[in-house]
Amino acid sequence: MQLSPTLILLTASVCTAAQPVATEPARSTKQSSTLYPPAIVQQLRDNAARDPWAAGVRDSLVKAAKPWMDKSDDELWSLMFGPGITRSWMVWSNGHCPACGQGVPMYTWKCDALNKPWKVECPHCQEFFPKNDFHKFFKSGFDPRGVFVPAKADRSLLFNTEHPDPADPKHRFGVDDGEGYVEGDKRWRFMGAYQIYGQWKQAVLGGIRTM
Ligand SMILES: [Zn+2]
Repeated sequence: MQLSPTLILLTASVCTAAQPVATEPARSTKQSSTLYPPAIVQQLRDNAARDPWAAGVRDSLVKAAKPWMDKSDDELWSLMFGPGITRSWMVWSNGHCPACGQGVPMYTWKCDALNKPWKVECPHCQEFFPKNDFHKFFKSGFDPRGVFVPAKADRSLLFNTEHPDPADPKHRFGVDDGEGYVEGDKRWRFMGAYQIYGQWKQAVLGGIRTM
């Protein structure tokens, strides 16, 4: 009988729930899996060793987890963010791209948080926004706990890195301090939307689900 990955994982979870919970001093370093006891891990390995289907499932799960497995504990920790930036479900509900002018309404800006963090991409012209190094600005505003506090952040970092000369007319183009890039009465919430679709759904939640 072949078990689905979900059933395999569910079986593991049920078995885990039946185990006595051992607590450790807070200062100790984790040494083994919390969710999957050694007997379950061994059973999964035995299944994968004798069943090509199970081996395929194992390989696909390992491949999917690799981006997070390759990160250090500090890198994983830093994926999470605080409430300092206004979150937005859309960059601009019925808006357009400030570079090419084509319509990019609702949920159509693209995010790839693992490969292009803290940027969103126009689906038409492939321009990335914001044009400033937002992550550098974000980190400049960290409090001692590593939580972004807008008032602490270094606003001298808010310029278009493709046009660093202050005299360049595009020096401020596409710059977002977390509350959006503003042109007249228009506001593009690049980072407000990225936090939801990129940093949260892809980098944090994607990691939790995959691992
Ligand atoms: Zn565009």
